Amino acid sequence: MDVYTIDIEEQLKVLRDKALPVEDIDGRIKDLAENMISTMTSADGIGLAGPQVGLKERLFVVRLEHQDPLVFINPEITGTSEDVSSYEEGCLSIPGMFAEVRRPAVIEVQAWNLRGRPFRLEAAGLLSTVIQHELDHLNGTLFSDYLSDAKREKLVRRFMKERQAG
Ligand code: ZN
Repeated sequence: MDVYTIDIEEQLKVLRDKALPVEDIDGRIKDLAENMISTMTSADGIGLAGPQVGLKERLFVVRLEHQDPLVFINPEITGTSEDVSSYEEGCLSIPGMFAEVRRPAVIEVQAWNLRGRPFRLEAAGLLSTVIQHELDHLNGTLFSDYLSDAKREKLVRRFMKERQAG
């Protein structure tokens, strides 16, 4: 699968769209999720959301180092801590750009797995950040949206320049 990036207009449009609920967790969704896991792994990513590979469906995959991949279908955050934590985030759709983002430190998320079963998970640390980052993708939000205007403009301008330079 090709990973969509923000410097290509048609791809940016998909990245900015709100994804729609998955209706059936069928063989097609299973194939897509497996494909997304291998795409993420070969790109050295720790998370990848449907819109990043051109899908308009609410699913994402996560794989932290030395752990089994997780698949989240129709995910919803059902609780967030007041405590915040800050991580330097990156994104396969804005390769090479990194910035600190503050988010709730602990979240509770509910989703469906590939067997069509609902599950609930409390996540802290990096896992919490990745889940929030990926869920944002399903709503058309990019991590750069959290930066100040000045910082975002500077980083995006640099990113675009590097992409043009090839
Ligand atoms: Zn991302």
